[in-house]
Amino acid sequence: MNNKTILIVDDTIANLDILMELLDEYDVIDATNGKDALEILNTEHIDLILLDIMMPEMDGYEVCRRIKSQDETKHIPIIFITAKADEESISKAYDVGGSDYIRKPFFPKELYARIKKELRLEELISELKHLSFIDPLTQLYNRRFFIDSSKTVLEIAKREETPLSLMMIDIDKFKNVNDTYGHQVGDEVLKLLAKTMKSRQRKSDMSCRYGGEEFVILLPKTSITKAEAVAKELRENVQKSYFEMSAQKKIAVTISIGVSTVNIENEINIEKALKRADDALYEAKESGRNCVKVKIK
Ligand SMILES: [Mg+2]
Repeated sequence: MNNKTILIVDDTIANLDILMELLDEYDVIDATNGKDALEILNTEHIDLILLDIMMPEMDGYEVCRRIKSQDETKHIPIIFITAKADEESISKAYDVGGSDYIRKPFFPKELYARIKKELRLEELISELKHLSFIDPLTQLYNRRFFIDSSKTVLEIAKREETPLSLMMIDIDKFKNVNDTYGHQVGDEVLKLLAKTMKSRQRKSDMSCRYGGEEFVILLPKTSITKAEAVAKELRENVQKSYFEMSAQKKIAVTISIGVSTVNIENEINIEKALKRADDALYEAKESGRNCVKVKIK
């Protein structure tokens, strides 16, 4: 079974029946007019739409236009299936945002192949979107996405007048891990740290891989005192965790953390707070590593 859901929109019941039978390996939902189709899209998750053009009241072009004008639905591929075969109708189908166009009567295998192609394409696009904001190794946010979203998080903090703190984390002597055991083991250690970070974090916290072995966590609605406590707990948890290379060989690492808070009233982005956290991190390194330092101003 395939768990993709296809919405078929056609005012001719006989056409719906043929398509339903042809696509029995997918979950199929049908609609006989545009209005119903749009309502279904509000409540169901749809992966692809087969859309007739000639329908009373709202034609397929208009249905397509409306789907493509909504942020929630505009990514859904639409294949027009229609008896209209003139050049103008075909070009209009693409103009309004259709992905493909098939004339009735169609070859079932051709339609089937095109559906497969569109679904695969959509999968690839969403994988790419995912990669654009997630660090593939640790599955934490990447730096670019973090900086972009921090603006929104800060705006909310300003509006709600709630504190916004952050911490910068660095693995102690990480170079030694890579030099001694190789980069593959280094990667496992990074993954382990990311997992430890995620295991305790609250839903609103944003963890990001900021650089090679450097991480940042943004903590909304968190005072500097609370942020320091969270950082200390994380430092302890990391010290307790280890990566098991074999039954005999366990690799443990420690982290240093710099904590700061955004001056909600005066600062327009998190850059200054990041700089303070970075300074605090430097201080933590200087005073022997495996500790937490705070810098407010
Ligand atoms: Mg029709």
